[in-house]
Amino acid sequence: MTRLILATRNAGKITELRAILADAGLSHELVGADAYPEVPDTKETGVTFAENALLKAHALAQATGHPAVADDSGLCVDVLGGAPGIFSARWSGKHGDDRANLDLLLAQLADIGEAHRGAHFSCAAALALPDGTERVVEGRLLGTLRHTPAGDGGFGYDPILQPLGDARTCAQLTAEEKNAISHRGKAFRALVPVVRDLVGQ
Ligand code: IMP
Repeated sequence: MTRLILATRNAGKITELRAILADAGLSHELVGADAYPEVPDTKETGVTFAENALLKAHALAQATGHPAVADDSGLCVDVLGGAPGIFSARWSGKHGDDRANLDLLLAQLADIGEAHRGAHFSCAAALALPDGTERVVEGRLLGTLRHTPAGDGGFGYDPILQPLGDARTCAQLTAEEKNAISHRGKAFRALVPVVRDLVGQ
């Protein structure tokens, strides 16, 4: 069985990708970066989601000698020219403080009316092989930003992004509903045929 490394220590992401690969009929042994504690985390020095996903995938493929998959994602707001983008996790200055990031963004957009509150989540998913071969694909979830948060599910900016065609925010969707339409779900599903081509079944 071919081993595929997923460049994350997030158990939720590993479970999600396992399900997507299994649904697609792929039978790789998928292991997270935790299986290689000696390999340091990669610095995300890229300026696009794709660059950061590729940096992480290459670093793990080189260090482990196995094909590696990585993703990078964030929220892109139209009226802010795509920001927070790659700065989504630290928009308020504090890495990973979801509530502070969301509150700052809502304050910045307080005067912006419904017609101009378009935004999307974006995810780049990359595959890198130990020989340097690389591929990257992208998935998006389009929506609009609410003025006030709603819902307890999800994480990050989920309570303020309302997917197009839905009256709920992402934080009010079940995990299955979100996975079916999410930027990450779309990107990883788009990566499946690429894995099949370059790594095999
Ligand atoms: P990462 O790529 O998982 O590190 O995500 C970067 C940041 O983007 C997160 O900290 C969130 O702020 C934001 N983000 C990415 N995906 C989502 C999502 O599905 N819902 C809400 N926020 C997200």
